[in-house]
Amino acid sequence: MPKSDTKKVDLKVVPPTQLIDETEVDICPKCFGTGMEYVDAAGGVRVCTCRKRGEHGANLVRAQIPRRYESCHFENYKPVNTSQTAAKQIASRFALEYPAVEKGLLFMGTVGVGKTHLAVSILKGLTERGINCLFYEFATLLKEIQDSYNPNTQTSEMRVLGPVLRAEVLVLDELGATKPTDWVRDTLGNIINTRYNDRKMTIFTTNYLDVRPTDREETLEDRIGVRTRSRIFEMCRNVEMIGPDHRRS
Ligand code: ADP
Repeated sequence: MPKSDTKKVDLKVVPPTQLIDETEVDICPKCFGTGMEYVDAAGGVRVCTCRKRGEHGANLVRAQIPRRYESCHFENYKPVNTSQTAAKQIASRFALEYPAVEKGLLFMGTVGVGKTHLAVSILKGLTERGINCLFYEFATLLKEIQDSYNPNTQTSEMRVLGPVLRAEVLVLDELGATKPTDWVRDTLGNIINTRYNDRKMTIFTTNYLDVRPTDREETLEDRIGVRTRSRIFEMCRNVEMIGPDHRRS
């Protein structure tokens, strides 16, 4: 070979430790990243648990549970009286038995007794099973619908309303928290009626009671109107909770 044809190649030797560092990827030891795992010697396969975890994560994100309720589970709900023990039992049975349930749930009681905690615990249980769920605070939902209102077409965009109507299970938190104008009542009435007609389950929480606690206080009916109150009682099991405000204990 003539001398001019020879090329000097600079072979850089990579130390093995560095190679390991650079190529280290978090590969599932069960499926080796394929997403399917063998279940028997005959070649039976199923979706690997790592993929199911991934799907659950995505479902949870879609459910829009606020970060302050991230740590709420059935396990860390500690009832302090019989009304709370019963509420926890009803909630966990709903999560377990859905879709074989007749009615949604209406958690009713004073502030801080854990109504939202239990509603979120249900959503977590359901999203784990791949069920499409959505969480909305009543006031936030109305604000988002209002913000999406187009005065030219005189309609609100389906961007906000669509997922609320379509969600298999919807949690509407703090029902009645918004000032009850005609528009608020109509909007809520439409959402509830559509979901009712589609036989979709809705879980409500409210700090307003059915019986007027004192002459000066409002009832749920005062806040949402007689028709919507009656429809909610028809489509939900009423779960009354009493007790001290957990945030203060
Ligand atoms: P509510 O919706 O009834 O106003 P929340 O569910 O928002 O009350 O509860 C307020 C806070 O107290 C949350 O952080 C919740 O996790 C916690 N909490 C309430 N009740 C309990 C309970 N019995 N055991 C554990 N945590 C509780």
